[in-house]
Amino acid sequence: MPRLAVLGHPVSHSRSPAMQNAALAALGLGGWSYEAIEVLPEHFAALVGALPDDGFKGVNVTVPHKLAALAVAAEASPAARMIGAANTLTFTDGDVIADNTDAVGIINAIGERLSDRRALVLGAGGSARAAVWALRQAGAEVSIWNRTEVKGEALAAELGALKARRDPGSGAFDVLVNATTVGLRQASERPPNPEDLKALPVDADSVGERQVVVDLVYGSHETALASHARERGARVIDGLEVLVHQGAASLRLWTGLDPPVETMRRAARGEDQDG
Ligand code: NAP
Repeated sequence: MPRLAVLGHPVSHSRSPAMQNAALAALGLGGWSYEAIEVLPEHFAALVGALPDDGFKGVNVTVPHKLAALAVAAEASPAARMIGAANTLTFTDGDVIADNTDAVGIINAIGERLSDRRALVLGAGGSARAAVWALRQAGAEVSIWNRTEVKGEALAAELGALKARRDPGSGAFDVLVNATTVGLRQASERPPNPEDLKALPVDADSVGERQVVVDLVYGSHETALASHARERGARVIDGLEVLVHQGAASLRLWTGLDPPVETMRRAARGEDQDG
């Protein structure tokens, strides 16, 4: 029986097993399964080495293993190499192949033309790297803001984005991507905290209808940024939608089949198939 998994620490909160098992069932791959495996950093490489013999065809990799995932792979896609991190490993003929579907996940979740559009990415961590690389590949002009300026500047130089500015504002951008962890606690525990908006260079009054706002943070509640942007008429793409599209891209790599995106969306959001 082919097996798949998400490896992380912690990983019990992951929506990927529900989403991917629903997808496998919808594809008629009833013998396949997808599970969450908790693994400490010091055990990551040994575990990955043992997985193919246990029937695993591939894995998703989440915090804090995305750099290690790239390091254990014999081959890597251009996306994984350029981003410097992998969220997907595929086991083929004794080899481990690394990919980064966070990048294509963001682009597919946005689902509209990005060439020559102005994008502002907030953050300079792992997911910001994927967002900046993906948006640049899609032809957008990308600026980066990060709380720790020097990290934002280094990322901009490395990935060919515009030099990070101290206070870029948000009104002049067509696409705004929050790739910081701001909002994470509220998204998990309680409804949006308007104070979160103040941690980011977002002009609350200038967010509006002509903008696409992507918030990679997800949890049980909408983030303050997503909530505010929605109220102001922006097109809002939340972290769950990005999760669905990165998972769909991973599933395509492992099975070669077209992923059932709507089934995955409903499972990720905890909606039943009929409701
Ligand atoms: P990371 O590598 O730890 O980076 C965290 C970033 O957040 C850094 O740029 C950090 O800035 C910034 N930050 C933290 N606290 C801040 C604050 N109070 N004010 C302003 N900036 C702050 O994290 P990551 O792996 O990129 O993940 C970022 C978020 O994306 C997480 O919430 C994660 O769950 C989410 N994510 C979602 C998906 C999805 O599929 N939806 C995929 C990947 C990640 P400094 O450099 O100044 O510390």
